[in-house]
Amino acid sequence: MTDVVIDIGAASRALEDTTPVAILRWASEHIPRLGFATGFGAEGCVIIDVIGKHQLPIDVFTLDTGLLFPETYAVWRALEAKYGITIRGVKPEQSVDEQAAAHGAALWEREPDRCCELRKVQPLTRALAGFAGWITAIRRDQTPERADAQIVERDRKFGLLKINPLVAWTHDDVWGYLYANDVPYNALHERGYPSIGCQPCTSPVVPGENLRAGRWRGTGKNECGLHVEKKA
Ligand code: SF4
Repeated sequence: MTDVVIDIGAASRALEDTTPVAILRWASEHIPRLGFATGFGAEGCVIIDVIGKHQLPIDVFTLDTGLLFPETYAVWRALEAKYGITIRGVKPEQSVDEQAAAHGAALWEREPDRCCELRKVQPLTRALAGFAGWITAIRRDQTPERADAQIVERDRKFGLLKINPLVAWTHDDVWGYLYANDVPYNALHERGYPSIGCQPCTSPVVPGENLRAGRWRGTGKNECGLHVEKKA
């Protein structure tokens, strides 16, 4: 729970036409105990580049569900090496085998929301305890649920301030930045995977599909529950 007092509407408006560097600098100057949870998507790699290049005091971590692609573990190590930073792996309470013993095999096929709750939402909730704010890499044009995201928000789900430095960026903005700055990114992006999560729940997309269509394909689910809140 945060005790930091900020006029989030005014801050969001003031930062709207600035850059991710300016937003992250502002956040690290105004919000103590700031964390960045990354899944090493293209957007997350942009933010890690900014944090690493500018040595911003932001604790970078990832939710290591135990079900990530080898390519995801590879880009994790490449980013740490390039920027000289440590990206903490936050694990669920149960290993994949322990979860299978407790809830049955392949919970993701039967109850993906429950699986995400156990392997992502609960570990993130524990990881965010003690932080005043957290950074995400969401963009407004990724899903209808993200269309109203602001640069600075109050995250009622976790009781924190939430900073979204890339909300106004497009897919092309992100890739232009990665190429221009020689930022490491997940090799699966070049094999038809624009959005990458756990192996069992991620498939490639075909031209014309929504960029997140390969996540939980055929289930009607398109969020892991980390960024969606019920409106007050
Ligand atoms: S993305 Fe799939 S495997 Fe990963 S936590 Fe969610 S349901 Fe489980």
